[in-house]
Amino acid sequence: MVTIDLSGHTGLVVGVADKHSIAWGIAQILSEAGMRLALTYQNERLERNVRELASTLPDPLVLPLDVTDDRQIDAVFEAIGNQFGRLDCLIHAVAFAPREDLMKDYVETSRDGYRIALDVSAYSLAALARGARPLMKESGGGSIVTLTYYGSEKVVAGYNVMGVAKAALEASVRYLANDLGPDNIRVNAISAGPMKTLAARGIPGFMNMLKYHEEKAPLRRRVDMRELAGTALFLCSPLGSGITGEVIHVDCGYNILGL
Ligand code: NAP
Repeated sequence: MVTIDLSGHTGLVVGVADKHSIAWGIAQILSEAGMRLALTYQNERLERNVRELASTLPDPLVLPLDVTDDRQIDAVFEAIGNQFGRLDCLIHAVAFAPREDLMKDYVETSRDGYRIALDVSAYSLAALARGARPLMKESGGGSIVTLTYYGSEKVVAGYNVMGVAKAALEASVRYLANDLGPDNIRVNAISAGPMKTLAARGIPGFMNMLKYHEEKAPLRRRVDMRELAGTALFLCSPLGSGITGEVIHVDCGYNILGL
């Protein structure tokens, strides 16, 4: 039997808001595999949640991080350098678009809404990868995993500017994979089927998306958190060592459907 043992490895997980967050599902499975983790919280509103969740992990590091703030990004990697001295894995599970822009047809997206959506949801991956690179080099390489959605590939009603941001994120995965590959740093995305989380509830018509997905996906069900987390674990483990620049669909097969 193959078991995944990541003891001695360290990871940074960005995007925990509460116990339903995909980032938290991934943090739990990485910790179960033995990885020591740093978790971040976006603001004081979320700090208590994240500290409470982190307290269930062995020896966690908990740090503030708004991904639009370069000084906070620098501070996070400085703290990880001081505490861990290396980094093996980075989970990027962050996205945001102003609600008023999500509610509009894409053609009506404001300049500011576009800028914010792309900054938080796509540029942040490059900014975090840049910060992670020296610490991953200390480890002899690393694995970066981000979360995306099918609305980047096809038009999904209500996803609007976030679909465009996810398309930029997926292109960033390929460019970053090529930049960082010589340092043995791999960069991949998981394209997740719909999950009931805080961010998802901001998408207009999300409950209908969930119902439609359950009825139509080849597996006739929605994806389970452990399935997403397990894919992230695989990508962060030696089992995924030959994979980079990919978008892996974990969506019960939904993306293969035509009519
Ligand atoms: P979630 O629990 O709400 O997580 C999203 C996280 O992003 C929150 O912690 C949020 O904090 C954080 N965030 C937003 N702006 C930020 C900023 N400027 N700096 C730092 N953090 C910021 O929702 P989730 O569904 O797990 O989302 C995680 C990722 O999975 C996202 O990239 C999402 O697009 C992707 N995804 C989700 C689904 C789904 O159906 N749920 C499907 C496919 C892909 P706040 O709560 O303070 O905004």
